[in-house]
Amino acid sequence: MPLQIVHHPDYDAGFAVNHRFPMSKYPLLMEALRARGLAVAEALSMPEPAPASWLKQAHAADYVDQVIACRVPEKIEREIGFAVGPRVSLRAQLATAGTVLASRLALQHGIACNAAGGSHHARRAQGAGFCTFNDVAVASLVLLGEGAVRNILIVDLDVHQGDGTADILKDEPRAFTFSMHGERNYPVRKIASDLDVALPDGTGDDAYLERLDGILPELSARARWDIVFYNAGVDVHAGDRLGRLALTDDGIRARDEMVIGHFRGLGIPLCGVIGGGYSTDVATLAERHAILFEVASNYT
Ligand SMILES: [Zn+2]
Repeated sequence: MPLQIVHHPDYDAGFAVNHRFPMSKYPLLMEALRARGLAVAEALSMPEPAPASWLKQAHAADYVDQVIACRVPEKIEREIGFAVGPRVSLRAQLATAGTVLASRLALQHGIACNAAGGSHHARRAQGAGFCTFNDVAVASLVLLGEGAVRNILIVDLDVHQGDGTADILKDEPRAFTFSMHGERNYPVRKIASDLDVALPDGTGDDAYLERLDGILPELSARARWDIVFYNAGVDVHAGDRLGRLALTDDGIRARDEMVIGHFRGLGIPLCGVIGGGYSTDVATLAERHAILFEVASNYT
């Protein structure tokens, strides 16, 4: 059984190549996965746009309606970092549904990844920081609402703190939010997760991995997790424009091995999402996002 990968061509909303958000990383990631023999027909699933009823479990109803109607107030669009036109709106609905689908595939097969997702700055009231809808929070609440799972662990290793996920799930005791991130990175005003680890600028592979290695057993001991959502943001890389943590490609690979190996070793289903990555060399960035899929494919 190949690694189950969720993808949709409209994950790419077609921004100009010089846009601050490297939108072309989505099609380039699929090219990288094809080159590795991972994006074969029996591995791929495509989501339908998320229904408003799912989105409204995590987000304010008026904000969801604004995104679907492409009538998001300019002030919020500025906080998101781009205008919410028809393609961005569709992309947000697809990427969110993609994480829901990947989580269901993970429950079925043990592991699955969405070739998008990790929009962790979207809060209950609105989007922010290149994030329109919070796919992991939506998927968590959908699975809980259906009774598909009882306890959810979110392991967010994107270099930025998972403020939106923390905001949405703060009153949901069945979902535990963990974020390990660069202390001095966006967002300036962080919203406390259930557990936050803030790392200093320039933390390299060794210190990073040592810290993570100590925390994973603590996390798995907290409850009997029915699923883990793993945000494998590659903006921890030394070459990233926005991150400040100085990991290498090998460090990212070791990180993904550590997380996936730990939870799969315990038999816990894991749903991977790609999270952030902001290098100007988008082809190299896509290769970096492919590491998650390479590592996950060893655990099917
Ligand atoms: Zn990030």
